[in-house]
Amino acid sequence: MNAPIIRSLDALDALTDAWRAAGQRIGVVPTMGALHEGHLSLVQRAKAECDRVIVTLFVNPRQFNNPEDFARYPRTEQADAAILAPYGVDALFVPTGDEVYPPGHATTVSVAGVSGPLEGAHRPGHFDGVATVVTILFNMTRAERAYFGEKDWQQLQVVRRLVADLHLPIRIVPCPSVRAGDGLALSSRNQRLSAKGRAQAAALPGVLFDLAGRLERGATPAPALAEARARLADLGFAPVEYLELRDGDTLGDPLPGRPARLLVAAWLEGVRLIDNIPVTLPQTATRSSLGAA
Ligand code: AMP
Repeated sequence: MNAPIIRSLDALDALTDAWRAAGQRIGVVPTMGALHEGHLSLVQRAKAECDRVIVTLFVNPRQFNNPEDFARYPRTEQADAAILAPYGVDALFVPTGDEVYPPGHATTVSVAGVSGPLEGAHRPGHFDGVATVVTILFNMTRAERAYFGEKDWQQLQVVRRLVADLHLPIRIVPCPSVRAGDGLALSSRNQRLSAKGRAQAAALPGVLFDLAGRLERGATPAPALAEARARLADLGFAPVEYLELRDGDTLGDPLPGRPARLLVAAWLEGVRLIDNIPVTLPQTATRSSLGAA
């Protein structure tokens, strides 16, 4: 059955007030729509853990640093409602821009540190937009749990920092990246690739997994990363914005004995692709061996 599409906060409140009065746990899955199996994995996890599940669908203008990217972002509300039908979602919240940002809106939520490098450096203002809209959506839905994909690893860390720092009464549940059979992480942006580009794109996770294996076997990060960047360029990714080894939580320099993460952003056919995977650094890694990563 199709979930009711709710567009106003008043209508959402009417539903969630009743759910809360009945002592039901509410989970929220924030999305920008153009739903695929990656999003659905979050929905399934939320359904398994919560009494009521709200999927939000809002293409948030404030997190796009590039107006053209915002204009071209796929908007497929009817298809999204249909794809969700078998999952027993309790509400599809599709607010208007004015509902989310009331006239005169003047507040920005900004998470320092973890928002700075990588996506933050290449997409100025992006994480301010994310942190602001996520805070608003948490307050609008008053959910107890929120589900986020590891596909957007840095976003997940920004949201965790935000929730901890502001003591927001919500638990963040991370969900593993869902990949196509050839390894490419599912993304709404993949549909903008040609058939040829789509086939080429699988090289991105290929290079990432290969590099992680080399680092886990003790390769020195700086030259291994440089080689992998060059390989991506040879494979037609242009530009390769970043390919970095970072601390998994802070996104700062990797540290011995702590979970590390490889993160990449690279363009193919005018489409910006991002991905990330964990790396277990060898016991022998030291600050100086990792220093130049
Ligand atoms: P988006 O609609 O791109 O803003 O994504 C909404 C949520 O779905 C975010 O928490 C994403 O991290 C998550 N997500 C997107 N793609 C995937 C994927 N391939 N696997 C797991 N989660 C994903």
